[in-house]
Amino acid sequence: MYQFGEIIGQETVVRYLQASLRTGSFSHACILSGEPGSGKKMIAMTAAAALLCEDLQVTPDGRCEPCGQCLSCLQIRSGSHPDVQVLEREKPGSIGVGEIRRIRSEMQILPYRSAHKIAVIPDAHLMTVQAQNALLKTLEEPPAYAVLLLLTEGTETFLPTVLSRCITLKLRPVPENAVRELLIGRGVDQERAAICARFSGGSVGKALQLAQNEGSAARRDSAVQLLRRIEKADTASVIGLVSELVAADGATEFLDLLDTWYRDVLVCKTTGSADRLIFTGEIQYIKEAADTLSYGTLQRISSVRAAAGRRLKARVNTELVLELLLLQIRQACRRDRRAGT
Ligand SMILES: [Zn+2]
Repeated sequence: MYQFGEIIGQETVVRYLQASLRTGSFSHACILSGEPGSGKKMIAMTAAAALLCEDLQVTPDGRCEPCGQCLSCLQIRSGSHPDVQVLEREKPGSIGVGEIRRIRSEMQILPYRSAHKIAVIPDAHLMTVQAQNALLKTLEEPPAYAVLLLLTEGTETFLPTVLSRCITLKLRPVPENAVRELLIGRGVDQERAAICARFSGGSVGKALQLAQNEGSAARRDSAVQLLRRIEKADTASVIGLVSELVAADGATEFLDLLDTWYRDVLVCKTTGSADRLIFTGEIQYIKEAADTLSYGTLQRISSVRAAAGRRLKARVNTELVLELLLLQIRQACRRDRRAGT
């Protein structure tokens, strides 16, 4: 169900939308800009539901919510509302003039059974210049009932003429704590929720995806198992883990995990406490690493990790980069363990 109350971390945008719904001053063209997974689609569909709802609920403090029960709300939920168009791309990498023209001519037809007709354009940053020019005609003289919602990861590719005719609302990355609480609220266990929230970079969508992805959980387990005692890992298990990661396109996910693991080790070493760890189930191993590894070694790990990130960006073979990285970490850790015994 689409409800503003379900949207977390976007208080300013939600308040703004609720106020314009309440006062009947909803803009004809609105850009929702934010990272993938920041909730653009959810916010757009909730706004659409509220605009078309037959029994909009308004609280005394001015918040409003679609009722969730009228025919209009039910049709939006099932994706079958005749007055809501969601653009579907023909090509993966761009939105062409043909797609925009279709939306435009659809918007010329009076609403079927509502006061508004709404077009949602996901990934609007992919519109070609010609597509934007085609859209401009609707933006310049929008029919009174028309509402355009453009969802985008950024506004850099928009023509100034398009930008000047739209209201731009920027979504913020959601605070890690709020993402973690949301996951826990949905039955994800504490440690997994903390890890997924950390890796999500403030994206609720990504966090949910990570938490629900069993394959990703299994890869995380294999990686953690290797990291626990990396100085003792044999080369075959390093290669095994790397090919598992490469097969699943999990290099970035693994680097995130590595960052979090050594962040925990560093926190534990600096504070001498395990209170603020993300890997709460791995305290024993994190403590052990914090006791054994010197600051110099942690610094060395951080710089080989950074080098690996650069190599991956430069499209060096992923398998080689990850293998080298793990072998370098193993060597650094072995040195300290030897020195310690
Ligand atoms: Zn309703």
